[in-house]
Amino acid sequence: MKPLCSHLLGAEAGSFPFRERLILDYYDGLAVGIVSCADCDATYVLELLDWDQGLRRRVFRLATISREIVAEYEVKGGRATCKLESGQLELEALLSQREATRTLFALDVDGLRLIASASLEGVPIPTGPWGELREVGQDERWFGLLGLTKER
Ligand SMILES: [Zn+2]
Repeated sequence: MKPLCSHLLGAEAGSFPFRERLILDYYDGLAVGIVSCADCDATYVLELLDWDQGLRRRVFRLATISREIVAEYEVKGGRATCKLESGQLELEALLSQREATRTLFALDVDGLRLIASASLEGVPIPTGPWGELREVGQDERWFGLLGLTKER
């Protein structure tokens, strides 16, 4: 399991430590995206875990991914746009290259700022696609583990 860069580990609430690179899935706002650290070139996948009323405050899990793999996807993704199915396969291939971390970030996706972050030891973080989480219902724990109260 790869560690995060020091910039993200030390990111303070109120800042926005990322540069957005690619939005891969959207649920009235960012659901899955590739971002780079604002201070270095470390590249990450953000994936939605939970959200509160209004969808503005969202909890994401963070995975690392290599810049080269993302760059390759950007080239291929451009070619695949005419074929939805092959686009989906390439997206799955891209996401299969990510390496999970133990870090969660709560972001305000309207104001683009970090609300809270935490690295969890001993708490299994789901690894399946975020869309499946939606079907099984929302899991309130994630807000609590970040020291936040989920608004309903
Ligand atoms: Zn960094």
